Amino acid sequence: MKKVSLIVPCYNEERNLDALYVKLRPLLDNGLGSREYDWEVIMIDDGSRDASLAVMRNLRQRDDRINVLSLSRNFGKECAMLAGFDYASGDCAVILDADLQDPVEVIPEMLKKWEDGYKDVYGNRETRGNEPWVRKRFTLAYYNILSKVSSGEVLRNVGDFRLLDRCCIDEICGLRETQRYTKGLYSWIGFSKSEVSYDRSDRNAGKSSFSYRKLVNLAIEGITSHTTSPLRFASVMGIVVAVAAMAFLVYVLVKTLVYGDPVAGYPTLICVILFLGGIQLLSLGIIGEYIGRIFLETKGRPPYIVASFNGANPHERPGKHAG
Ligand code: UDP
Ligand code: MG
Repeated sequence: MKKVSLIVPCYNEERNLDALYVKLRPLLDNGLGSREYDWEVIMIDDGSRDASLAVMRNLRQRDDRINVLSLSRNFGKECAMLAGFDYASGDCAVILDADLQDPVEVIPEMLKKWEDGYKDVYGNRETRGNEPWVRKRFTLAYYNILSKVSSGEVLRNVGDFRLLDRCCIDEICGLRETQRYTKGLYSWIGFSKSEVSYDRSDRNAGKSSFSYRKLVNLAIEGITSHTTSPLRFASVMGIVVAVAAMAFLVYVLVKTLVYGDPVAGYPTLICVILFLGGIQLLSLGIIGEYIGRIFLETKGRPPYIVASFNGANPHERPGKHAG
């Protein structure tokens, strides 16, 4: 029988996990009308500050199809997902949020597409739930920019809710960058893709851990890890400014020599200096973003650290406490 892994990254989700289990139960018991599968759930505790870990362990005691992976601190959703991929043993894996925003009922539909031969079946959000208007607008504008600056395909309204075949999981596990933008990686690895539509519901309990600051960081991460076109901005601006400066020089020369006009220098000078200063600082900032990322990646640190898996501590050596 084929095995399906459900990967659930969790950060401060104590109030959602029991409800999630109730929702997952019919699926795990093969009761949602799909074919019969072996199921495993991998809940990743991403350094939660509440009782999420205790709730997960409780669930595991009731149902040993649930596996509990605890990270040593909060590494962020992107790295928590990688941990899930590393520990998943299924022939395919479905990533879903712990807050019940991704409907479990869609999973059999994804599995059907997978059986049809698609390797990456992603959920396309028909509606986005009760998201604030500003956030919706910014997200759409961001995807517009990202699809303009990058060569790869960028899918709007597609989150992390998707099914991946074993071949995709293996390839994603091979990409060990610590500054991760997994949505970009899905399209980078390729493989045949298909979509299923769903309505994204509202969060069950608690509030989103993605503040606007975190979203802006993720957005910058998305651009810098996906494409180097912002670096070209400096070169293009340099050429544009140089050409404009030449034209202006000719204009000033003609004005002075032919018409004998005295050149009013001060305001023009200030404008030019400020304009160029701004462009230079912006270009430096863009270069800095990339250098910062080179710096972080060259350290070669692991993307996450495991504190325990199903209660076992990977750092405990046999015989360590003996004698
Ligand atoms: N999450 C995580 N680590 C984090 C932040 C979030 O594992 O540092 C998990 C969170 O528990 C949830 C999923 O990622 O299962 C999506 O997070 P959230 O609901 O806060 O984001 P939103 O749905 O608002 O995009
Ligand atoms: Mg959510």
